Amino acid sequence: MKKKEFFLFLLLVTVFFGLYLLAKNIFFPTNLKRITPEKIAQNYPLSTPTPIPTPKPLSFTEMNALYGPCVGLPTLMYHHVQDAAAAKEKNQSGLTVTTETFGEQMKYLKERGYQSVYMSDLVNFFAGTGRVPAKSILITFDDAYDDFAINAVPILREFGFKATLFVPTGLIDNPGYLSWQTLKDLAGAGDILFANHTWSHRNVGADKAEVEREITTADLQLEEKGLNTPKIFAYPYGLESANAKTILQSLGYKLAFTTRPGSTLCQKQSLDLPRIRIGNVSISSYGF
Ligand SMILES: [Zn+2]
Repeated sequence: MKKKEFFLFLLLVTVFFGLYLLAKNIFFPTNLKRITPEKIAQNYPLSTPTPIPTPKPLSFTEMNALYGPCVGLPTLMYHHVQDAAAAKEKNQSGLTVTTETFGEQMKYLKERGYQSVYMSDLVNFFAGTGRVPAKSILITFDDAYDDFAINAVPILREFGFKATLFVPTGLIDNPGYLSWQTLKDLAGAGDILFANHTWSHRNVGADKAEVEREITTADLQLEEKGLNTPKIFAYPYGLESANAKTILQSLGYKLAFTTRPGSTLCQKQSLDLPRIRIGNVSISSYGF
């Protein structure tokens, strides 16, 4: 009898312990109850983050609602215009559109009825005091290389196109760059605007005092030569910064161009404007 009771007791203990374990596992599964951030990291290491694809560009209507008023105004961006051999010799092929291709591109645009407008036309559009006709373009050149005057200007003038040259003013009069005298001579006809591209082609991500010195010095030097109306800026290397925008605003700059691709120019992005980098290919490949 004693033995029987003992086995019954043992059976009850076993059953209750079993039930306890079952309940514990249902309500407090060990792996969740005990897990610590360290353990999570150890047991479930983060896989390589999924690469984020490029977002689908906003439509004109969407851009207009967010940043408008907007205008479709392709802004072409060039650097060197020179012969292929010269570009190769100077290791500038990547930034060169050959003189021949540039001529073909301008001819094509002219034949298709495109017309270049002044920067002031865009300024007026953003101010609500002017409009930009259909099939308008802006043509810009960065860095004030001497081949601009030698090779690009004669072709621009042959087809009656206006252009803007972004000038790192401290680099003027250096070998390979334009001279102040040439800038003054070119400015006479009124079809070429000279605009701020910092003093030494400095990345505006530098500290605020440095960025201010760079932008202000170029602003002053252009002003001294009577070449600074309207005030337009292009970010060297296409890199923007909040500091640069604050300085540009305080100096009265109306437009600033990046190298971000796009052809919809919006008022609320007037210090953030996109451009189209044109390469040494047929300009029809950019949708013209
Ligand atoms: Zn540049």
